[in-house]
Formats: sequence, structure tokens, C-alpha cells
Amino acid sequence: MLRFAPSPTGDMHIGNLRVAIINYIVAMQRGVEFIVRIEDTDKERNIEGKDGEILQILEKFALPHSQLFYQSANLHIHQTMAIRLLEEKKAFACDCTQDELENERQKAKDTKTAYRYSGKCEDKTSVDIEKMKADNKPFVIRLKKPTQNIIYNDLIKGSFETAPNEVDSFVILRADGTPTYNFACACDDMTSGVDMIIRGEDHISNTPKQIHIKNQLGYTQETIYAHLPIILNNENKKMSKRDDASSVKWLLENGFLPDAIINYLLLLGNNPPREIFTLPEAKEWFDLEKTGKSPAKFDIDKLKFINREHLKIMDDKKLSMLFGFSDAGIGKIAKLYINECSTTNKLDIKIKSIFAPKSFENEYKNEMILLQNIINNAPMLKTYDEFKNYIMQNSDLKGKMLFKPLRLLLTNEENGPELSELYPLIKSYLLEIVS
Ligand code: GLU
Repeated sequence: MLRFAPSPTGDMHIGNLRVAIINYIVAMQRGVEFIVRIEDTDKERNIEGKDGEILQILEKFALPHSQLFYQSANLHIHQTMAIRLLEEKKAFACDCTQDELENERQKAKDTKTAYRYSGKCEDKTSVDIEKMKADNKPFVIRLKKPTQNIIYNDLIKGSFETAPNEVDSFVILRADGTPTYNFACACDDMTSGVDMIIRGEDHISNTPKQIHIKNQLGYTQETIYAHLPIILNNENKKMSKRDDASSVKWLLENGFLPDAIINYLLLLGNNPPREIFTLPEAKEWFDLEKTGKSPAKFDIDKLKFINREHLKIMDDKKLSMLFGFSDAGIGKIAKLYINECSTTNKLDIKIKSIFAPKSFENEYKNEMILLQNIINNAPMLKTYDEFKNYIMQNSDLKGKMLFKPLRLLLTNEENGPELSELYPLIKSYLLEIVS
């Protein structure tokens, strides 16, 4: 089983979306379940409504999950497991104060050594715990550091070995009874039967801790890990909130198609047989083990190129619906503008401009009024040639003095696609357009 485990703490980042897409594809390839777990245990950082937004995005990108969990609903499981570890003496209660810990951290800093927990409370007994409770002394639960190196092999990044001191005796349950991130995550993966974890490389340092937790809880199911490289901006820094294009919501609001975004994100670090593809096609060739291990650079121009290619192959009627029309002809009109526009937002401006009231404030004002009158009184003219001949005969205009005002009247713009291509698509809306 695979899972996508977003935190509802901000707009969905493209890195997270890439994690979701790849988890989904690999689950399909292996014929196993894909679940979603909202990691909402950090109450301070949660933002109201972000969980809903994340789920909507998954729906927009057609990445269906078979089960949905909220991590906060598992609090009692996290607590029970922490107490079990305590009872088995794999964990211990620690009542070191913040001041004590801060002093130790400072000492480590002064001697330029890495801070490690002193081990002071490691031998506390259940009698000590009863006393702490009676004295109202806050305490946390720490998991004892491992006795051996933690070794794991990452499908993308290769093998890792972490010494016990680096894992350290870390906190699993805070004084207020809430689990720490690593503990909640490891317990939930274990109880849901997640046996393959694909996530961003920022979680590599959490992995030995999570493996240690699962080992101590007696979990024997082997878990495969794959950490995806980060995505860099054009300054070679990690794409962050400051980069607009890092937000999936921003990309959607700016006219990028889900299919194109999926296509682009799957190109990063992969060598597909074709540059333009859909998600079902990617399922055929995608190979997680062949994913590159170095960071990928985000290139908005490439994404625009891919978006344009997906617009070209999009069904006309489906495209029309993006602009609020059900007539496939509108989608065909949009396609006439595809070389100048790479996003649906830009195309929408062109379509709106055709249907908007026209501006007559230009040097062709008189010609436009004349043409408007002629068209308003013309019979239905089937072909562009019939249309052109009719208005030429009735207006006595020709050349630039005919075509400039005619284009302005039909599109509100001075340049654009061939009128001969446009006319058949707009002829049934002509009266609306020239009004
Ligand atoms: N909640 C974590 C995040 O959003 C993901 C944790 C994981 O995949 O293990 O970065």
C-alpha cells in the first residue's frame, strides 16, 4: 500500500503534487491501494480549509484514493503505542526542564560538537513516573536510541547508514500527550500497512528515526523507501513559497491544465519515450528506480510549451467548456490562437475579446460603423468568400481599409488568425459579435 501524506499547513507545493502523482502511479503499477493521510497533528501550523483544498486538487488531477485518514484521529493509538514502549523499557519518561536542555545545547555549541541528549533520565522507573505525576512535574517520553546502526537502501538515493548517536534518544510523546511528527507518521504507516514510502528528500533525515520506531514496535514488514530530489528555481534554490509557480493553486489559476502539469512534473528526472503524454500513458513506462537522484530545475517556459501541446490535443468541446461555452466551435476558435497563447487564461482573453462590445475609438471608426451596419442587415452568408464579397460590394471598401476595420469589428484586435479561418467558426454568432 502507498500513501500521500500532506500537511494542511499551506498551499499545495508542486513538489508535493509530484509526490502524490508518483505514489498514485506506482500504486497502480503494483495493483495496490493508494491512500491519503492528512497530517494535521501540528495544530499551530494547520491552516483551516487547506485539507479541503488539497483533496480538491487531487480530484482535479484525477488521482483517486481508496481511503482518507486524518492523523489527529489516531491520537489514542499514538499514545497507546508510546506507553507500550515505555512499559517495555524501550522508551523512558524524561522530566529534564527546558532550561537544562538548553544549557546542554549551549555547551555542545560552545565545544562545537553535535548536541545529543545526555541520557540522564534513561533509567527512570515506573515509581519515578508516579512521583512525577504526583508532583505535577511535566515529562515527555523519549525512545531509547538504537544499539546498532540503522541501515536502509533508498530506491533513488542509494544506501544510508546512521549511527545510534545520530538517531539519539528522541522525544516521541510531548508533555501535553501529543505525538511528535516522526512518531505519528511511523505509527500510522505501520497501522495502515504502508510498505512503500515515496516522498520528498527533505524527509531523508527522518527515515532512520521512523525505521527505529517501527523496529521497536516489533514491526517486521519491510518498507521500501524512495526519496525524490527537490525542485530548484532558476536561482538554483529550492522552489519556495516566494516562487509563485511553486503553488499548484497558482498554476491552475493561471491557466495551466492538470494534464500538462502532470506531464511536466513527470518529465523532471525521467527519460520518457515521448515528451508529451498523459498519466495513463506514463503508467506504462514510468520506472521509479530510473528516476534521477539530482535536483531538477523548474522551467516555466518548458511548462508553457507542454501546456500548449496539451491544449492542441484537447477535445474541442472540453476546451470550450473551460471558457463557459458548450459549443465545440468555441474550442476550435481557441485553437486558432494557440501559437500566441500558451495558457487557458490567455485564450480566454482572446475569446472574451471577440464577444465583447467593440471599441470604435480608432482611426477606422467610420469604416467600422459602416461595416457594422452592413453585417447587421446581411443575409446568412455561408462561406467566408460570400461574406467578403458581400461586404466589399456593399461598402466599396477594399484592402487595408476593409480588412483592418473588419478585424477590429470581429475581434477587437488589430492582429490575429486568418479571417477566412475564423469566419466559419463565428458566423453563427455574427450579430452578437458586431453589436
Ligand atoms: N507531511 C509530510 C509533508 O507534507 C510528509 C510526510 C511523509 O510523506 O512521510 O511533507
